[in-house]
Amino acid sequence: MRQLTCAGPNAIEWRDVPEPRLQGDGEALVRPLAVARCDIDLFLTSGLFPTRGPFALGHECVAEIVALGDAVRGLEVGQRAVVAFQVSCGACSSCVAGHTANCDRYPVLSDFGMQPLSGTEYGGMLSDVVRVPHATAMLAPVAPMLDSVALASVSDNVLDGYRAVAPHLAALPHADVLIVCHGLKSVPLYAAQAAIALGAGRVDYASDDAEALALAERLGAHPVRTDFEKPERRYPIVVDAGLTPNGLRYAVRATLPEGTLQSVSFYAGGDTPLPLGRLYTLGIRFFTGRAHAAALLPQVMPLIEAGRVRPAEVTTRVVDWEDAAAAYMEPAIKLVVRRT
Ligand SMILES: [Zn+2]
Ligand SMILES: [Zn+2]
Repeated sequence: MRQLTCAGPNAIEWRDVPEPRLQGDGEALVRPLAVARCDIDLFLTSGLFPTRGPFALGHECVAEIVALGDAVRGLEVGQRAVVAFQVSCGACSSCVAGHTANCDRYPVLSDFGMQPLSGTEYGGMLSDVVRVPHATAMLAPVAPMLDSVALASVSDNVLDGYRAVAPHLAALPHADVLIVCHGLKSVPLYAAQAAIALGAGRVDYASDDAEALALAERLGAHPVRTDFEKPERRYPIVVDAGLTPNGLRYAVRATLPEGTLQSVSFYAGGDTPLPLGRLYTLGIRFFTGRAHAAALLPQVMPLIEAGRVRPAEVTTRVVDWEDAAAAYMEPAIKLVVRRT
């Protein structure tokens, strides 16, 4: 089968690789139909993280189920499903607690399409067939009326944006929210979308990126152009989504005393300064950590089915499957590849 492969920094090509097979009765084989580029993918393909040889690309997708083990319940061959991008068993104590990003049965960062991070090749979604080891836990059926391309990013970045605000708005309904976008492309936009859908009072979107600000405004957020020096006001809930120490410092300064600062940033490479003294003095609660894909899917899918969260509004470019190798390095906010 064909697999879009990162062969080295900025070298993306289709390769023929062996087709995966079912290896257990709880597994599924899926055929990806629409694949979204995650905000981390361009860092993987550019060589920011040390590579360990060629690796399969893509971990956000809607796929068609093409084979199921005998023990899988509640899913059918031919059905479409969102595939959780993290491999998780659904049965260990971490998974049962909802911490599916840190499943006890797999090494940390056991994700599709991220071999440079985990060292293990689980396959990538820009392939003809992908093996899903725990189908019941990792697949969320897609309602027939929903479009595959529209939902391509749900398995990771949409969930990431949702969880950045959902628990904090549940604790503080109708609170104002500030999203600080300083380098991540789509996650902060999904966070703005989720905050609006969940009834936040006012959603402001701070960035130095004109395209991101314009898109945030179309989603219903208030754009705040900034150079990340001094915030104009402070908020009870702030989301830090980016790459730079300046952006993080701005997010801290923009958080009210006793407020909540949620970071969805991965801050790869070296230590990132955090003003703990300010957090301590003002009682600011700082949250970080990866999203738990399999656990979040059952929360987010109903919002999408109800039309309250509309991921397609963040998609800025859709390309055909055959064009994926050439298009995957393009600087779009959200790129989706559709099987044709
Ligand atoms: Zn991702
Ligand atoms: Zn588990």
